[in-house]
Amino acid sequence: MNSSFAAERLLFTPATPIADAVPTIFAFPNEYSVGITSLGYQVVWATLASRNDLQVSRLFTDLHEPLPAQPELLGFSLSWELDYSNILSLLESLNIPIRAADRSARHPLVFGGGPVLTANPEPFADFFDLILLGDGENLLDDFIAAYQEVRGSDRPSQRRQLARIPGIYVPSLYEVRYVSAEGAIASIQPIEVGVPAQIEKQTYRGNTLSASTVVTEKAAWENIYMVEVVRSCPEMCRFCLASYLTLPFRTASLEGSLIPAIERGLKVTRRLGLLGASVTQHPEFEALLDHLNQSQYDSVRLSLASVRTNTVTSKLAETLVKHDTRSITIAVESGSDRLRQVINKKLTNDEIIQAATSARSGGLSALKLYGMVGIPSEEPDDLEQTVEMLRAVKRAAPGLRLTFGCSTFVPKSHTPFQWFGVNLHAEKQLKLLQKQLRPQGIDFRPESYSWSVIQALISRGDRRLSTLLELARHYGDSLGSYRRAFKQLKGQLPDLDFYVHETWSADQVLPWSHIQSALPQATLLKHLDSAKDYFLPVSDTNPQTADAKLTTARP
Ligand code: SF4
Repeated sequence: MNSSFAAERLLFTPATPIADAVPTIFAFPNEYSVGITSLGYQVVWATLASRNDLQVSRLFTDLHEPLPAQPELLGFSLSWELDYSNILSLLESLNIPIRAADRSARHPLVFGGGPVLTANPEPFADFFDLILLGDGENLLDDFIAAYQEVRGSDRPSQRRQLARIPGIYVPSLYEVRYVSAEGAIASIQPIEVGVPAQIEKQTYRGNTLSASTVVTEKAAWENIYMVEVVRSCPEMCRFCLASYLTLPFRTASLEGSLIPAIERGLKVTRRLGLLGASVTQHPEFEALLDHLNQSQYDSVRLSLASVRTNTVTSKLAETLVKHDTRSITIAVESGSDRLRQVINKKLTNDEIIQAATSARSGGLSALKLYGMVGIPSEEPDDLEQTVEMLRAVKRAAPGLRLTFGCSTFVPKSHTPFQWFGVNLHAEKQLKLLQKQLRPQGIDFRPESYSWSVIQALISRGDRRLSTLLELARHYGDSLGSYRRAFKQLKGQLPDLDFYVHETWSADQVLPWSHIQSALPQATLLKHLDSAKDYFLPVSDTNPQTADAKLTTARP
């Protein structure tokens, strides 16, 4: 056995496959150390491997378990957009056509799942026979049970039957029409009777959430045991996929599931990660901290995924310090009160300063704040307020190492800001912040603007992008590769600006309009209207503000 697999400590018991178990490959399109650190991948693998009617082998880009000669199912968990190129490479290495339309009965059914595909499967739709949308808890078993029913059928019948299962999306059974080759989508319709017009994304409503099924020193976070404390986030910042995509907000029961899960994990490791979009939002978070502050946990190293600003108390800081964590990360987005109202971030600069002083008095040595440029309606004055806020934090908590990580606003499907484009001035704004902050001793870490553009392209892409993605993959991972591919395909699909920078009209058919959102479009539009209440009067100097006001008008 490969040494990486041999180093694993399993927290579940794989089943012994029965004689005619379905030969299945479950892949993560990146290296083992990355894939095995994904809680989603771990949990799906354990779910599949716990069934005796499947014979599951794992596949990563750098290693794999012994693979079946004739797999019937091949699954991918996609957590990072650009890993799509690894999916295509893995398919090629297995001699499987990369497009579903070119596969026949001798090829496995290729399925995908994970946050990227659930948010917007369309740019990748042509590569998959089926895509599992939403929470895997019940969906995986429903899928395997349905597959067992159609196992002996021909490929078209299999697809047709599986498409009837709630949460299973079979892209080839939907026809997308366009206003013109370079225009928007005109309609998305199922091509057969019995195929649902709307695919119901699955939502698990139990109070036992996920926990690691494997702990290993070979993971990117060495020997970490992860528990999911909450799912989604009740704050609903209007740009936030982590909140809107997975609503409603759900919490793991403290006594019934969280503490027992933690006890199980700490039998095999002393490193604990509390995961979730907003872990401190758990209604019993204080009680969880009290539990972890007991002496038997003194040697446990604790990591928190994310923390809400106004929950950074001295007690939280002390707990982290006691458990070997020296820094904390909070997302503040902006120093401008107006922009925070635009995005629905219920936070004041005073609370940010209070969080910094609590972090320092609790013994933490570093604070990382996350912000964003290019928020719809942003004006130069808003950036100045961000700089001023950071100066004030530095003054209030001297000695605390201050880092400001800054990304560019990227529109995400199923959020109220899905209609906005990426601000064309964002790159300039990042440079401006850099110029202002570095001399103040604030460690400014901008995220690549080019990467934000590619993210936006995939985030709002439709099926026409599949050809472009194939081309860009051959040219390399840079924004230049995508531009080159657009040039080559001119006349066959809209240009980059359409997908990335344009503000879309509210009556435009969205690439994901056939996939059920957690909230109906009318509600998203109401939330968008609430954001616009805080827009400044149309400014000639900010084309995005003017554009947004015009084009998101009601149909
Ligand atoms: S608080 Fe954070 S996780 Fe929650 S909605 Fe806002 S940005 Fe998203």
